[in-house]
Parts: sequence; C-alpha cells; structure tokens
Amino acid sequence: MSGATLTIGDYQALVSAFEAEAMPAIAGADSVDALEAVRAKHLGRAHGWLRTLSARLGELDRGDRAAAGRAFNEVRVRVEDALAERQQTLAPAREGGALADPTMPARHSWAGVVHPVSQVLDEMIAIFRELGFTIALGPETESPWYNFGALNFPADHPAMDLHDTLYVSDDVLLRTHTSPVQVRTLQAYPPPIRVLIPGNVHRRDPFDASHAPAFTQVEGLVVDEGIGFADLKATLNHFARRFFGAAKTRFRPSYFPFTEPSAEMDVVCGVCNGSGCGVCKQTGWIEILGSGLVHPAVLESAGVDSERYTGWAFGMGPGRTALARHGIPDIRILYDSDVRFLGQFSR
Ligand SMILES: [Zn+2]
Repeated sequence: MSGATLTIGDYQALVSAFEAEAMPAIAGADSVDALEAVRAKHLGRAHGWLRTLSARLGELDRGDRAAAGRAFNEVRVRVEDALAERQQTLAPAREGGALADPTMPARHSWAGVVHPVSQVLDEMIAIFRELGFTIALGPETESPWYNFGALNFPADHPAMDLHDTLYVSDDVLLRTHTSPVQVRTLQAYPPPIRVLIPGNVHRRDPFDASHAPAFTQVEGLVVDEGIGFADLKATLNHFARRFFGAAKTRFRPSYFPFTEPSAEMDVVCGVCNGSGCGVCKQTGWIEILGSGLVHPAVLESAGVDSERYTGWAFGMGPGRTALARHGIPDIRILYDSDVRFLGQFSR
C-alpha cells in the first residue's frame, strides 16, 4: 500500500476543473488588459492554478505521477494556446483603435534606404576590390605634417591657410583630404601596396550649391616596383567602363603637390553621349577624378625607397559623382536627411 493522500482520479478532476474555469474566462476577456488578468489568475507564477497543480503532483502515488503529469501538460498546452489565440484577436484593437474604426487610413511604413552617396561609394569599393585593392582608414584629425608636409606641399602653400583649412589647434587640423592615409599606409606596410581609402574630409568652404564644408572622398594608392602611368591609365579606364559604362575617357594635365606628373580624368557625358548638354555644361565631358604618379618626395617622407619603388594615386568625390549620376542640381540636398528625397533611392 502507499501513503498517497491524493488519488489519480482526484487529480484528474482538479485538472478538469481548472480547464473548465480557465477556458470560458479566456473566451470572455474583451480586452488585452482583461486577458492579462485571466492569465495572472490561472497561469501566474505566485498563485496560479498551474502552480497548484504541479505542486500537488507530489501527493500522488509514484506509479500515478507519469499519467497525471501527462494529463496536466495536455490541459496546460490547451489553455496556453487559447490565451495566445485570444491575444492575437485582441491585440490590434489596442493599436490606435484601428480595429474599432476600419475606415482609418493605414499607417505608412518607412523602409530604410542606403544614402545615394553611400551607394556610389559601395559600388566604387566593389569594383576596386575585384582588382585586389584592400580598404585603408585613418584619423579625421591630423597633424599638419601628415596632411601637408609629408605630401610635398611647399611651406607657403595657400591650402594651409586658415581660409581653407579648419585647425583644432596650432598643430592639429581636420584633414582636408584622405591623402594622409597614403602616408600612414606607406609607413605601416612594405610595398607592394594596393589600397582604397574612403573617408570624410573637411574644408573651410561655404555651404552652397556646389560646396560643402565636410564631404566624402575616396582615394586609391598603388606602390610597387616598375609601376608607371600605363598601370594608372589601364586601371582607371577599367573603372570608368565598369562604373559609368563609359567607352571613352580622356586625361588632362593637372597639378597636385603629391603627384608628378598629374592628370585629371574625364568620362564622356552619359546624358548627351558627348554632344553637349546641361549636365556636362555643354562640354561633352564629365570630370571624375584627379590622379598622377606618386611624387618621389612623398615616398621618401614615408620611408619608402623612391629609387626602387614607384606608384600612382587618384582621388574622387562620391558626392559629386552621385550628383552627376542622378542629375541633382544642389549638393546641399544630399545633407538634408529629407526622407521625401532619400526615399527615392531604394535599390
Ligand atoms: Zn552632356
């Protein structure tokens, strides 16, 4: 004989009584709050039925406990399902009364989109990654030496003026281009080097239709033995074909302190195909980047042997490129965070 104080029959009666009380209460709850009260009463941790039923399992004869436990679990699953189902029915009514008034307009849902400048940058990075470039990053505050001196700017170059550069203190400035990262990369890694350098830069420019005091730039740097202008031209022509679908490019002589020789690269205008239009200001060409062979003085500043190694570099502005690509007339629109504008750039 056993010392059980509760028979299996009594236990099953308790389980049935619980179900008989909980089910109508759940069905009768007419709001989310009322349903919460039902849940607390029947399934609450402190005083709920479930707690009582599971505690009383211990009063059963050992041989009966498995069967009783099964009966208990079956009922618990049915009650919890009923609660969840009722919750689903009641929940929308709490959200602004949409259920109460089916004529209310639906809420507009906003889907985030990638900013048009980031889209351009992502595409540029993808193309150069295929060519074996890796990404290099650097600080946005720099010393004048990294921003100018190491890049072969003469000591009296006007770019260093307070008119053009934002100084944090006498010896700290906000970088005016991503080129200091070229120097940092050359100092940190031995050639061969093939890096792409995206980042924010700052100029003391007015904020008008074609200038912004802070913008995104991306540069490329290749340094190895035997690198020449043919490598620069071939790589950048490949990029122009991939990115702009441009069959024609041209290089115009230019000047930058950190490259020699220097050239600006134009692609034939994709809007008028070279015949002249408003986008290309009737020239038939769109300027996309500045480039050149790395000046030996820059290699030497960074501790690279300029007799053994040569290289080339380029820089371009994804913001300007996004303007040209979408025919946007004013650069300030890119900084407005206006969702009516940005929402048009889903891809
Ligand atoms: Zn054109």
